[in-house]
Amino acid sequence: MLPVTMSTEPRTNYGKLKLLIDGRWVESGSAELGEAYDPGRGAQLAQVPFALPEEADRAVEAAQRAFEKWREISILERVKYLYKLKEVMERRAEELATINTQNHGKTLEESRGELKRSIENVDVAIAVAYTLAKGDTLDQIAAGIDVSMSKEPLGVFSVVCPFNFPLMVPFWFIPYAIVLGDTLVVKPSDLTPVPMQRVAELIQEEVGLPPGVFNMVHGGRQVVEHLIADRDVKGVTFVGSTPVARQIYRMAGEHGKRAIANGGAKNCVLVMPDADLDGSMSNLVSSFFGNTGQRCLAGANLISVGDVHDSLLSKFTKTALALKVGYGLDTGVQMGPLVTEKARKRVSDYVAAGLSEGAKPVSDGRTLKVLEYPEGYYLGATVLDQVTPEMRIAREEVFGPIASVMQAESLDRAIEMINGGTNFGNMACIYTSSGRNAREFRRRVDAGNIGVNIGVAAPSAYYPFGGRRDSFYGILHAQIDTVEFFTDKKVTISKW
Ligand code: NAD
Repeated sequence: MLPVTMSTEPRTNYGKLKLLIDGRWVESGSAELGEAYDPGRGAQLAQVPFALPEEADRAVEAAQRAFEKWREISILERVKYLYKLKEVMERRAEELATINTQNHGKTLEESRGELKRSIENVDVAIAVAYTLAKGDTLDQIAAGIDVSMSKEPLGVFSVVCPFNFPLMVPFWFIPYAIVLGDTLVVKPSDLTPVPMQRVAELIQEEVGLPPGVFNMVHGGRQVVEHLIADRDVKGVTFVGSTPVARQIYRMAGEHGKRAIANGGAKNCVLVMPDADLDGSMSNLVSSFFGNTGQRCLAGANLISVGDVHDSLLSKFTKTALALKVGYGLDTGVQMGPLVTEKARKRVSDYVAAGLSEGAKPVSDGRTLKVLEYPEGYYLGATVLDQVTPEMRIAREEVFGPIASVMQAESLDRAIEMINGGTNFGNMACIYTSSGRNAREFRRRVDAGNIGVNIGVAAPSAYYPFGGRRDSFYGILHAQIDTVEFFTDKKVTISKW
């Protein structure tokens, strides 16, 4: 029997998850078990085995064996599997979104959006097969001599994922690797592995990828380090917190492996006095509280420039407090819980630290109760005013529904606060009606994703997902950039 299946009603517990190795579901022999939750109900959703090193070895061996055949299959055959994957994900979209909401807590609408982004990456990977997968040729570089360059797959890659986008982040990588002829060992987050477990089942049952092309193991540090050290693993993609991203990047370097390592964030959202406040408010508020603030592109520091502060603060707080907080699968809910009780405590502690450093509470979400789900890990929208750049709440990643409101006298000072306040560089955005302000901001802010009147500057799949400074280690980014990451260039010089 498979570990996760769903008919019409979602299951309330998915039991002990299994590992997918060489096309078979394997019961892990590990005694170490983690827990995945349904955070909206505050209940266990699945048990997560922390795979043993020998199980990771078997997954890599299977992927390596599969690679020898997979690379020989024509790209037009490989792309057919992606068409199938797209069809399956579209047909199963509601089921996948439901499981995603169960395990993560985000609203069903947010899960549907996440799924759309995942499928968009399948679409773009299909396009890659017909375009960027090609090499090029220069005839007659000298008399009778031609040069050609082809892109070749490299082998086995490991994909290590964070908890906050259980479906989308794996899809920043998986479809590209598959279509380009590489094979995979995917390691979902140990907190939110259930949605990808279901995708893996569907890949087995309905997409029919050859055994070993897509393998999945569960676990944490030990299994990830083991994978990176494995001789047959050619590279790792990692998305998660900065300390781990840095450690993975370093370790990959030591082992001579390719790495993409996305880290954490502390994003600033700047509002100019000339911004269209009323027209932007719902977009602005969802930057901070969408996904319950657990988004690497979420707004964290709200910087008001000049005299906009008072009207911004009152409109922002009013809109934030109107958000309906509750169980993500219930109708009308606009903000779900935090992912674990531990996360709720960590975020609450940050609020307390902010207050003790002098921030003023305009709304304090720690008092919120969701009566129908007393065990859920809920925290309401929190707005702290008079936050200053030195405070921990302004500098460190909190990853929860907290807006720290700061003031700057000018655009220049605000940009200085963004570039100098932390060493994160994931996203920054500006609300303004001035093209000149927007241009200055775009050119001078040291972040990889910039929003202009857009609070969550999420690049679509045909663009790389940016990130700089401590938010990213590497050169090639997620999404379309992975075409270069998952292939190597071979140059042939011929004389006839
Ligand atoms: P995390 O760093 O705790 O875990 C990420 C993954 O690494 C998980 O699969 C986990 O099991 C594994 N892991 C944990 N500790 C490890 C270790 N010491 N060695 C090897 N692997 C380890 O991150 P998280 O809490 O799951 O995710 C939230 C973080 O991810 C936030 O910091 C957020 O900003 C960041 N994030 C960044 C981006 C981006 O594109 N920059 C996107 C999404 C999330």
